[in-house]
Amino acid sequence: MPVLYMNEFALIATYFKTLSERVLGARCDLGIGDDAALVTVPLGKQLAITADTLVSGVHFPADTVPFDIGYKALAVNLSDLAAMGARPAWFTLCLTLPQFSDPWLQGFCAGLETLMREIPVTLIGGDTTRGPLAITIQAMGLVDSGCALRRDGAKPGDDIFVSGCVGDAGVGLRLVTQNIAADKSILNTAQLRLNRPLPRNALGAALGAVASSCIDVSDGLLADLGHILNASGTGADIDVSAVPISPALLDPALVAPLNLVDGSPQGARRFALSAGDDYELCFTAHPDKRVQIMALAQQAGVSVTRFGTVTAQPGIFDLANGGVMLTPAGYSHF
Ligand SMILES: [Mg+2]
Repeated sequence: MPVLYMNEFALIATYFKTLSERVLGARCDLGIGDDAALVTVPLGKQLAITADTLVSGVHFPADTVPFDIGYKALAVNLSDLAAMGARPAWFTLCLTLPQFSDPWLQGFCAGLETLMREIPVTLIGGDTTRGPLAITIQAMGLVDSGCALRRDGAKPGDDIFVSGCVGDAGVGLRLVTQNIAADKSILNTAQLRLNRPLPRNALGAALGAVASSCIDVSDGLLADLGHILNASGTGADIDVSAVPISPALLDPALVAPLNLVDGSPQGARRFALSAGDDYELCFTAHPDKRVQIMALAQQAGVSVTRFGTVTAQPGIFDLANGGVMLTPAGYSHF
């Protein structure tokens, strides 16, 4: 018989306590079921804490499948921990639901569980309320004391790197907003990266000892690099053409239906550099670390590409294009 209604305590016990028991990440001393959870931060570690709220209709289309909502709500938080060089340990979940729905909760939990099995992390508590659909996750990770990757550590002369490629999630979003079917594998990949980004936690944790600063690409590569440079009081010379971009944006036949403001190859590249939601890592490191970084990236199973140098002069300049100054805000008009 289908379940039609459930009180808050039964809902938490049925869906979230069982999920927390099924998938274990870091040990917690006391989990779901009391007034608060208890955890112990090991000696020599710092706790990195981040939170993100996703609101239906604002951060994801109202008709997004619950699996993807659960997956992505956790992914964006784990990505922030990756950017700090912290290993995910625990998370809490606050869920506001318009009404009780067993299929919705099953799908939502399956999305969470899929990522929790990929990147071990323990669900230790939270809250459920009734209201317009919104999900807040707070994730906590562990990092060696004093070794967290911050935005303010970039020094003139440092190399600038990005993991993977950028622009896929931007393409995925265009597919949704332009009502284009993801009927080719390249488009399908883009769509998947929008809905189910895989945070770069193995790479982030490994970079703790070698990178000088780091950020995850949520606002767009140029904007996020700008956040590092602002925090560090530095600028950058970059080679825009060196940045790996979504394969979909390299194929004019696939670019045309996306209806970008500028559908030229250069326009498509600028789109990739300004599109958000890719959850790659952008980081800086002393040039001495190049070999080590490539080895760490290989171990983490992700490519990294060097595309620029930190400079003392503020601003981001495209050296391969006559040194023109790039403004992240200018790229948001597409
Ligand atoms: Mg971030």
